[in-house]
Amino acid sequence: MLWIVGLRQKSYRLATAFAMCSLCHTPAAQVLSRARTFVTLFFVPVAPVTTRYQTTCTMCGGAVKLTKEAADRLLSTVQAAPATGPLPEALVTPPPSEPS
Ligand SMILES: [Zn+2]
Repeated sequence: MLWIVGLRQKSYRLATAFAMCSLCHTPAAQVLSRARTFVTLFFVPVAPVTTRYQTTCTMCGGAVKLTKEAADRLLSTVQAAPATGPLPEALVTPPPSEPS
């Protein structure tokens, strides 16, 4: 019997928040997304193998990887705050410090 097994990646947009970008230091919409890689059997996704979270700046296109805990915290912050409310603090990250 022939088994057709493979991998497929799917990306989901979870939320969008207006916040300060940690890369270009400009207030812009940040898209929180989740990318999952699935094992497929006969081209049908069966089980997720890996899951990655990231925010993408709509101004500069820069992406920042997040842990699952950080993504969950950010998602709950975005869902709890109204669209015109204060900036979610989870997205306002200080720039990496320069070694002196
Ligand atoms: Zn940016």
